[in-house]
Amino acid sequence: MEIRLAKTAGFCFGVNRAVELTYNLLDEGHKVATLGPLIHNPQAVADMERRGALVVDTVDDIPTGYEVIIRSHGVPRSIYDTLEQRGLVYHDATCPFVKKIQNIAAKAEAEGAVLLVAGDKTHPEVQGIVGHTGGEVFVFSDLDELKAWKGPSDPSKPIFAVAQTTFQVTKWQESSEFLKKAYTNARIFDTICNATWARQQEAEDLSQQCDIIVVIGGHHSSNTQKLVQVAAKHTRAVTVETASELRPEWFANVKTAGVTAGASTPSSIIEEVLNSMSAEINDSMSFEEMLNASEEKRVHAGSIVKGIVTS
Ligand code: SF4
Repeated sequence: MEIRLAKTAGFCFGVNRAVELTYNLLDEGHKVATLGPLIHNPQAVADMERRGALVVDTVDDIPTGYEVIIRSHGVPRSIYDTLEQRGLVYHDATCPFVKKIQNIAAKAEAEGAVLLVAGDKTHPEVQGIVGHTGGEVFVFSDLDELKAWKGPSDPSKPIFAVAQTTFQVTKWQESSEFLKKAYTNARIFDTICNATWARQQEAEDLSQQCDIIVVIGGHHSSNTQKLVQVAAKHTRAVTVETASELRPEWFANVKTAGVTAGASTPSSIIEEVLNSMSAEINDSMSFEEMLNASEEKRVHAGSIVKGIVTS
């Protein structure tokens, strides 16, 4: 079995930035509390908790003396107001790609426009975006829901349309096409982030070359689930949070297995999964060796060709 690892697997820019900020503050001896789990990866969050970070659900739960970290998903405007009213020190790790959408939401309000958001209304990023406009909002998760929308309460209102940064690229494309025809005055902002575009594109390419794709990521991670959906269009796609969830029977008769990971998956977990997958075929090959393995360096054991290549 050959294992192909996606180049884009693992932490994206925004997650990396939030995680580094948190570890730096902990290393400097700050007491920090994150508003919600910093990332959608229980193992990474547990590691931060071991280092002293607290995860709180609301501003009311922040203990005295703790500084607050706003995670990369961002928060509604009302949370900034509360933090400031209470004089709490906070560090804003909202990803710049999310911040851009929040600014569009605020502009929609300023211009009296309806804000359309393609995304999951229960996701914190979407709730944060919605919380940056006081105007009319409609959140839809796919083209069917968008088609069922009755339009602005006042038909003369302008329309601003954005997408959650991790929205599925193809769903956004079909929604945009529909909007352009149905609401010719709509201003459409392509706000799916670069990291999402690149990961989904690579998952699509990889899935066409592999008998199975293993997507590593939190079961509650939006971008991880999108990678599974994209890969599943072309091949069998499975998702695991850690190596312990791998099942040997998945790899029976598999010649080529692809591996990718969500934007909030730490490299240590990717390493663990790759090591587990390769253990059956080559116990002596380390993660580093696998990453560096090229066509020439692939190791043979019996009749099985083994190794790992980056796609
Ligand atoms: Fe930022 Fe995109 Fe990563 Fe979200 S997935 S944190 S928007 S880079």
